[in-house]
Amino acid sequence: MAKITIIGSSSMDLVVTSSKRPGAGETVLGESFTTVPGGKGANQAVAAARLGADVTMIGRVGDDHFGQQILRNYEENHVHVGYVKPVTHMESGTAHIVLAEGDNSIVVVKAANNEITPAYVEEALDVIRNSDMVLIQQEIPEETVVYVSKICAKYEVPLLLNPAPAREVEASVIENATYITPNEHEAAIMFKGQSLQEALRQYPNKLFVTEGSNGVRFFDGEQEVVVPTYKVEAVDTTGAGDTFNAAFAVALAEGKSLADSVKFANRAASLSVTKFGAQGGMPTRREVEEQL
Ligand code: ADP
Repeated sequence: MAKITIIGSSSMDLVVTSSKRPGAGETVLGESFTTVPGGKGANQAVAAARLGADVTMIGRVGDDHFGQQILRNYEENHVHVGYVKPVTHMESGTAHIVLAEGDNSIVVVKAANNEITPAYVEEALDVIRNSDMVLIQQEIPEETVVYVSKICAKYEVPLLLNPAPAREVEASVIENATYITPNEHEAAIMFKGQSLQEALRQYPNKLFVTEGSNGVRFFDGEQEVVVPTYKVEAVDTTGAGDTFNAAFAVALAEGKSLADSVKFANRAASLSVTKFGAQGGMPTRREVEEQL
């Protein structure tokens, strides 16, 4: 079993559906309300565990009811939570989502996720050093991403950086990461002032740009390649990137070739879009292997 450590956000998504989006100062009646565990870190941890990895999460929750639900969800999905510690007198991270008029509006409150500091992560240094792969995203403080990239380079632990949500990324992080997986929008912000083609050539076999239903683009050292994904009936693409990243990390950590790892990740991510919800659609190892 590949040992994967994920350092990232956990949150509770509070989802309201409504036929009309309220304007400023307006009250409208909604149709339904559900709560569902989310956050990019949590989504990737759950996806990696379903795909058969031994997953340790490093994150934080609040000392509230949502925090307990988030921890229970990790446990139900066999993710180790010894380093998901509650922050006293603070709320869990939440995402307030309104689905109306065919689109979503989201307010994210980071709360406890802001407490994933370098000093907090350092408490888990032994776990990080003994990982086959570390997977990190950008819903945590930037200084923590910088710190993690430094220790992974120092202890020669492969690091997969999923630079989402989009922001500029410090040069040292780009150098220290082993693999980087932006979508097209994130790549444009990370490498602004450079064409995508130039960026890909600069980081052969390291920069993998996901392009939704097109698949994945990278430079293999000789030429730019696009690995097409699988044709599916897409129902909900939320969490496609999270499933892709988790699956890519699991396959690479198991020692699969780059080509096989991209294929495995495309298969897992394409299956995830055939069902509703981010975590709801994440496939098991067997479901992916049956359809490879
Ligand atoms: P994000 O969700 O981060 O925006 P993408 O939209 O690029 O990321 O999707 C990530 C990966 O998920 C793609 O590279 C592909 O493997 C898979 N994927 C996404 N949308 C589809 C789709 N409609 N059909 C098949 N695979 C998809």
